[in-house]
Amino acid sequence: MTTEVIKINPLSFGSSELEAAAEIIRSGGLVIFPTETVYGIGADATSSECARKIYAAKGRPSDNPLIIHIADPRDAEKYAVTSPLYVRLAEQFMPGPITVIMPKKDIIPFTVTGGLDSVAVRCPSHPIAHELIRLSGVPVAAPSANISGRPSATGAEYAIADFDGRADMIIDGGESDFGLESTIVKITGDDSLLLLRPGAVTRDALLCVCERVDISDTVTRMLKENERPVCPGMKYRHYAPSKPLVLVEGTPEDRIRFFREKQRTENAVIICYDEQKELLLPGSVISTGREDDLLSQGHEIFRALRVCDSLPGDIIYANLPGTEGFGLALYNRLIRAAAHTVVRAEKT
Ligand code: AMP
Ligand code: MG
Repeated sequence: MTTEVIKINPLSFGSSELEAAAEIIRSGGLVIFPTETVYGIGADATSSECARKIYAAKGRPSDNPLIIHIADPRDAEKYAVTSPLYVRLAEQFMPGPITVIMPKKDIIPFTVTGGLDSVAVRCPSHPIAHELIRLSGVPVAAPSANISGRPSATGAEYAIADFDGRADMIIDGGESDFGLESTIVKITGDDSLLLLRPGAVTRDALLCVCERVDISDTVTRMLKENERPVCPGMKYRHYAPSKPLVLVEGTPEDRIRFFREKQRTENAVIICYDEQKELLLPGSVISTGREDDLLSQGHEIFRALRVCDSLPGDIIYANLPGTEGFGLALYNRLIRAAAHTVVRAEKT
């Protein structure tokens, strides 16, 4: 298959620029498009055949359900059994980086939901994503545009690297804003949610519209072998670069000493904060912004993991992030990318 790549300026474009992409979706093809979280690989969510194409292109296990994307939060009713809590979440956070899981309606095939009787619904705020879905006239099933297990694509170049020849079209709309996937919540009661994947909509923000927000323990812990998680995407190693990744905890001074030691004694790549970079030895060092700038950390982390693969070095070391606010999303992705390998930097 030849993949057409088109470039669109998200801040200024006309609907006609997206007509060909919408036609591909309507006629059962695959289009990769930017969203405010990460790039998605999209197809008609009402078609089993299209869902199968997505799973095949990503090499994704077919029990890992797809999120369906809509242009208007009110459209959720056509595909899911909504509730007053959904309406409150939609009013507060949509369009935006949140996905809500609700019982599915028959129009969404089980192929899309990985056999589950629930469906995950999201209304993206990115102008290109929004207009593409609106023009398509169908809900768009769109997982992150990465080969299964690899870091999510936060820019078109990474989507092209993974999917050239595997999708009908790639829309290059620049970098994603957040760089981490959406917050996923499941509605578990009239006033309660289960947080399945942390993202830019934090637990504290969710608590403004809902009495109770439990965090699924799979957000921070490792799954047991053969365990089927509530959120099937939370499997063992995910978001992973090709080199092994080790996360480092400890005091700021101990971590610097640890990184320098590894630079001297191993062929190490270091992912660090801006303020650490000048204290490290020159070489394979990538910074993801200041430690207190979580938005920058989120925006840069998947890019950094991909860049690591092209730098000399056999092993990657990175800081173990904290779990407050948006930090929980960063923690969740890194801990999976590292297959839960964490070491403590201590004085020697
Ligand atoms: P991705 O599309 O790559 O961002 O991954 C989507 C995530 O949503 C996966 O981790 C899925 O397991 C999760 N997901 C989608 N639909 C459901 C559902 N009905 N129930 C639980 N998790 C879901
Ligand atoms: Mg993904």
